[in-house]
Amino acid sequence: MKATVIAPTNIAIIKYWGKNPTFENIHVPNKSSLSFTVQKLTTTTTVEAERGEFEIEFTLNGKKITAEMKEAKYVFKFLNNIKKFYPFLNNYKIKVVSENNFPTAAGYASSASGFAAFARALVEAVPEFEDIRNDDKKVSILARLGSGSATRSVPSKGGLVLWKRGVDPETSYLYDEKEASERSYAYTLIEPEKLQDLSIIYTKVNEGAKKIKSRAGMKSTVQTNPVYWNWIRYEEAHLLKETIDALQNNEREKLLNNIMKASNGLHSMCLYTQPSITYLNDTSKLIMHSIEEYNNDEVKAAYTFDAGPNAVIFTYKEYEKEVKDLLLNILEDEQKILSTSVGEGPRKTDNHLF
Ligand code: ADP
Repeated sequence: MKATVIAPTNIAIIKYWGKNPTFENIHVPNKSSLSFTVQKLTTTTTVEAERGEFEIEFTLNGKKITAEMKEAKYVFKFLNNIKKFYPFLNNYKIKVVSENNFPTAAGYASSASGFAAFARALVEAVPEFEDIRNDDKKVSILARLGSGSATRSVPSKGGLVLWKRGVDPETSYLYDEKEASERSYAYTLIEPEKLQDLSIIYTKVNEGAKKIKSRAGMKSTVQTNPVYWNWIRYEEAHLLKETIDALQNNEREKLLNNIMKASNGLHSMCLYTQPSITYLNDTSKLIMHSIEEYNNDEVKAAYTFDAGPNAVIFTYKEYEKEVKDLLLNILEDEQKILSTSVGEGPRKTDNHLF
């Protein structure tokens, strides 16, 4: 059977940084995270599954990926993880062709839309997955086995999505791997129709591949940062709830301030890692400071950065033009600025890639 899915990326406003050391292999996080599903930045993936001895053929952005290539590692791990929980996958030859419509491995979360599209297409293509096909929760768990941030790109309604950590790291010993896996999934908290006053502006500060992959960076933070667990506790107990409340009560200033606080929290955790990790560059910092200056009288915009130098700016539609002008002053190229909105989750299409 063959199936094709288009899945959006997502931008976290409360970040995922660090796996539960007991369940590292299956990407159970140390804290919950919160994101917006994003329109326009998408992955399209076609999966064909045929009965036979297990085999995988993978093409990404027009390039055949062989087992020894770096891009193959995540995909092999994903399928091996799935086989642990769904052994029938061993009886299939899988052919996958995938295309991202934005830069890969550059800090725009291609792994999020990539594994969300892969998981959604896989459950459509393999008949034994029929029972979980329409179960967003179970498919989000499946996508998590490929990449943590992909969990948040799965819910069909999209919008504001919460990914629950599921397991308190202090009591991990209470769970086996299957139980832990089933507890950590994502779902929609607010539907996109209710979030259309928000504008999300992506910038291209540097679209080259990042030097330290998120996976390696977060592992190093968990192992060496002496205040990491304090940050986890603070965000779980305070920042996450405050941010959800701000969105539900439409408290704009509080939301925007929390978005910046959460981004700065992540990057200070990186700096406090040994050896220290720096994802931001001088242009990133210039953008941060000009947004802060713009907010002097009234907070109207917020920046957030993932594991890379590219700023994502949140503002409201009525300020979008002002904020884009401010960014244009710094980046000097309209092509480096893309405005979009909160969107829906993945959808199936009949336009197969092969
Ligand atoms: P990003 O910020 O783009 O997520 P990462 O380095 O965290 O950067 O992840 C990039 C990796 O995710 C790629 O090297 C590849 O292994 C995987 N990936 C990216 N896009 C896809 C896709 N469409 N399908 C499957 N895997 C993908």
